[in-house]
Amino acid sequence: MSCFTLEATDGAARAGVLHTAHGDVPTPAFMPVGTKATVKTVDPDELRALGTRILLGNTYHLHFRPGEDLIAELGGLHAFMGWDGPILTDSGGFQVFSLRDTLIASDDEAVTFRSVYDGAPARFTPELAAHIQTTLGSDVAMCLDICPPAGVPRPQLEEAVRRTTLWAERQRDLPRATGQLRFAITQGGLDAELRARSSEELVPLDFDGYAIGGLSVGEERAPMFEATTAAAAALPPEKPRYFMGIGDPEGVIEVIARGVDMFDCVLPTRTARTGSALTWEGRLNLRNARFARDPRPLDAECTCPACTRFTRAYIRHLVNQEELLGLRLLSLHNLRFLLDLVVAARQAIEGGAFSSWSADALARLARHPEKEPAA
Ligand SMILES: [Zn+2]
Repeated sequence: MSCFTLEATDGAARAGVLHTAHGDVPTPAFMPVGTKATVKTVDPDELRALGTRILLGNTYHLHFRPGEDLIAELGGLHAFMGWDGPILTDSGGFQVFSLRDTLIASDDEAVTFRSVYDGAPARFTPELAAHIQTTLGSDVAMCLDICPPAGVPRPQLEEAVRRTTLWAERQRDLPRATGQLRFAITQGGLDAELRARSSEELVPLDFDGYAIGGLSVGEERAPMFEATTAAAAALPPEKPRYFMGIGDPEGVIEVIARGVDMFDCVLPTRTARTGSALTWEGRLNLRNARFARDPRPLDAECTCPACTRFTRAYIRHLVNQEELLGLRLLSLHNLRFLLDLVVAARQAIEGGAFSSWSADALARLARHPEKEPAA
């Protein structure tokens, strides 16, 4: 049975359902990031209440601390972290290749690097990345890929595409956890020809779904969205598409418009840690003195636990005093804002009104004079 049901389209935008061993996920879907088996400061019941349908866990971090065997001994990742909904695990590739000063060597067989935890040399192979994710028992496992940073010379991008395909071939038929789906990752950066080549090589391998990788790694936004358009269009329409690493409201709307079904980002919780709130008035920095006596909620339309009970003035006070509740309230709000945004996008797609909805949403987000640059 196919793991994805496409229910409606509006232009290139899609509404569907991802079917996993731990339940169905309506798409478009935003996946909060639980790097170390926790979405920072937010417990699983709260995540559920906010509207979270699927979480992301990081293979790299869980492999080193506390280790996949310990997690398996405690019943697998779902039981270990108290979340019984779907979980997608990344492959660790992004961490290995983005923490560049820890990289030792990389060839067709493996990548060798120093662990960020203790500096000890470590080695990831496609086989190990698959094994860790099988042991964790995630619902969606990602292939180990090569993700170069923005702006590398073309031969390096070409090599990333070649090796990513080679590794995907090795991972395709390895053992899986019960019901586990496996997604391949397309590469190629902003290079149209290489992106097309990556899809042409990976699509015939018939993975359950496909990710668009190697974007949102420091390049300009306009060419990134252009590459997303081509990358999404090159993927089979009957399979889910996952854009790795985007979570600002404008970016989420732009990738949904291009036919992306799933995305993840640490932005909501990272933004909270800087004392900022995502709102329909743009991004609010609660440290700003103008909020000192502001009796309004963070966002007038939001129904999250922060907005229904607390004022901007109070949350500003908590942030300035570095009280943990301030961080928690901002995390709850920012997650809710993005999860609500995605629900609204889905409704617009179902109603055939996505282009007017997205134009209006982007205009509202752009309107506010205090909007701060994206993280
Ligand atoms: Zn709120």
